[in-house]
Amino acid sequence: MGDGDYNDHKDVGAGHCEGLRESGKRALMRTILLATGLTLGGFSILQALAGNYPFAIAEVLFTTMLLFGAWRIERARHLYLWIYLYLLPTFCFILYIIIMPDASSGAFVWLYMIPLLAYLLLGKQRAFLLTAPFMLAGLLLYFADNRLNLDTRGLIDIGNAALCGVLILVFVHIYDGLRMQAYEELERLAQTDSLTGVASRGSFQHALQRAIQEAERSNGQLVLALLDVDHFKQVNDQWGHEAGDQALQHICHILQQRLRVTDFLGRLGGEEFGLLLRHTDRLGAEPLVDQLRQHIAGQTLDYHGQPITLSATFGLAAWPEDGRSAAELYRCADRRLYSGKQSGRNQLVSTDLPSEILLDKLDIRL
Ligand code: GH3
Ligand code: MG
Ligand code: MG
Repeated sequence: MGDGDYNDHKDVGAGHCEGLRESGKRALMRTILLATGLTLGGFSILQALAGNYPFAIAEVLFTTMLLFGAWRIERARHLYLWIYLYLLPTFCFILYIIIMPDASSGAFVWLYMIPLLAYLLLGKQRAFLLTAPFMLAGLLLYFADNRLNLDTRGLIDIGNAALCGVLILVFVHIYDGLRMQAYEELERLAQTDSLTGVASRGSFQHALQRAIQEAERSNGQLVLALLDVDHFKQVNDQWGHEAGDQALQHICHILQQRLRVTDFLGRLGGEEFGLLLRHTDRLGAEPLVDQLRQHIAGQTLDYHGQPITLSATFGLAAWPEDGRSAAELYRCADRRLYSGKQSGRNQLVSTDLPSEILLDKLDIRL
């Protein structure tokens, strides 16, 4: 505990899973833009060698745009706009190469790229809405252009092409659904502490960061309270680790029962928890937090018929007067929690002693 623990909280506001999903899409989009740009660049050389200069120039222009996109995409603001700006012309181009004069009948296979690209970049719902009409249009254009031959051989060709397209669409759809389920399960596991079921440290830090941003926008208020279970090592030593685990669950149960829906509880590590109380200031939070402290001290844990008495010390910091950033709030609440430990435990500390303010200032200057 104490200021030494401050560094433990320096990853406040670090990226969150949502961000990972988006950064993954950006990286993928970059690779796709690069690959398409370079492929088209290669084709433009072939067109120039074949003396087809208008095509070569058009392809050089598109190559430049695609490579510019690959360079910009990491920082692009409206990612989905970029994705659609890439996918729509690409899909139209795929339709065009199926019906353009002298088109090779094999050009048709590019149609199968449509679901792959769309599902990778857009996700299940959007991808289906975009893919289905393009695939259908592609199949109809192909058959219109290749004059239907309705003998047995012709029907088999139609069946192969259509069935393969439909199956690719269905399989990609199912695969993306399963992938999303697995992703959501992983996300849930990462956001929840497995022992107590409350938010994990990362999730709590993210919530605090978001609450501060929201309070900044709306001129709101919020309070951060840190709590550390008193003499918890003794609980483990005296009753065993399993009793210690039950004690942590017991404390979380008490806290959760009495918090408002807008409040947020997270396990920051070991026997230390964070409470995020939104839309309240220090004066509003103090009675609530002190009640929580009393409940923890008053409700013994029944461990196989044996009562185990627990208590916790709380340090409280209010935004914005005790700190504007998450790290400043942590630092302040942690300092007060440490001061509560020093002066006897089982208490709530929500202000600094004058000597502590001085020490903190000296610490900052050092
Ligand atoms: P203080 O009042 O100063 O906070 O004393 P303390 O004994 O609570 O603090 P200390 O940091 O010395 O001990 C914390 C103990 O919490 C040590 C560690 O084994 C135990 N602990 C941490 N995480 C868990 C857990 O998930 N389950 C159990 N049973 N014990 C844990
Ligand atoms: Mg501790
Ligand atoms: Mg402790």
